[in-house]
Amino acid sequence: MTHTSLSIEFFPPKSAEGAEKLRAVRQALYVLRPQFCSVTYGAGGSTQAGTLSTLNEILAEEVPAASHFSCIGATRDSVRQQLAEFKAMGIRRLVALRGDLPSGYGGGGEFHYASDLVAFIRAETGQSFAIEVAAYPEIHPQARSAEADLQAFATKVKAGADSAITQYFYNSDAYFRFVEDAQRLGVEVPIVPGIMPITSSAQLLRFSDACGAEIPRWIRLRLQGYGDDVASIKAFGLEVVTDLCDQLRSAGAPGLHFYSMNQSASTLAICRNLGLIS
Ligand code: FAD
Repeated sequence: MTHTSLSIEFFPPKSAEGAEKLRAVRQALYVLRPQFCSVTYGAGGSTQAGTLSTLNEILAEEVPAASHFSCIGATRDSVRQQLAEFKAMGIRRLVALRGDLPSGYGGGGEFHYASDLVAFIRAETGQSFAIEVAAYPEIHPQARSAEADLQAFATKVKAGADSAITQYFYNSDAYFRFVEDAQRLGVEVPIVPGIMPITSSAQLLRFSDACGAEIPRWIRLRLQGYGDDVASIKAFGLEVVTDLCDQLRSAGAPGLHFYSMNQSASTLAICRNLGLIS
């Protein structure tokens, strides 16, 4: 099996205590030698300060940092300013997204889709940033159709993306089919599977309903069957996600992007099972 490049995603902590905990989590995860660590960005800039301070900490730890950057509700001027700030900070990689408007937010931005943002970043900053975009092997929940979503993904890549990270999934066939279909449309960039460790049943089921990731029936029922037995949920989750990563790596997935949920234990346990660390 070839070398698997790893990346790890965090969200900006909401408190000083959360920030302190995240520092320890990052130190534990750096044993994986991630290609980069990314930090999410609330739509409409809602987490901007937390995102930037977390990115600054990662850069100070001498680890390549990528900022997620969502454009919904933004203007060309505000995006231009934010790009200048990223550049001045030493950020060299962005995950360019449309984002979702918080409910009650009026909108009125100048960008409609992530493809608009990708094209704008390239036009304004040339090759200053490596650009990642989001991919949805199980189809984005607002897509008009599966084919329209795939076309939109290809358009977004052709606007200038270097690589893509998928929404998480537990059915590897959906991923392999998506990669094949995208390649058929001329997409040549790596499409890195996003991996969500399973540590809690209620949280995962709630989250997945909202973002359109499917929890296969057998996994859902097994999780429900464990009730409050967290140890069994974690043991089962570790087995399922290790198997998934094994399948993905064996079939040549170009890397693994871990949705760490600001925790280290499950990501480390999966990587240990995969033989990526001892
Ligand atoms: P787009 O690629 O613009 O697609 C959005 C929808 O529009 C899709 O249904 C697509 O089919 C459709 N579409 C696209 N182009 C066209 C077109 N030309 N005509 C008609 N329809 C079109 N959210 C955050 O708020 N912050 C984050 O940090 C964040 N990080 C994420 C990281 C990853 C790896 C992933 C997978 C998702 C992330 N999200 C994040 C969630 C993301 O913002 C939402 O899924 C959002 O609804 C879509 O963003 P997008 O960039 O994929 O949008």
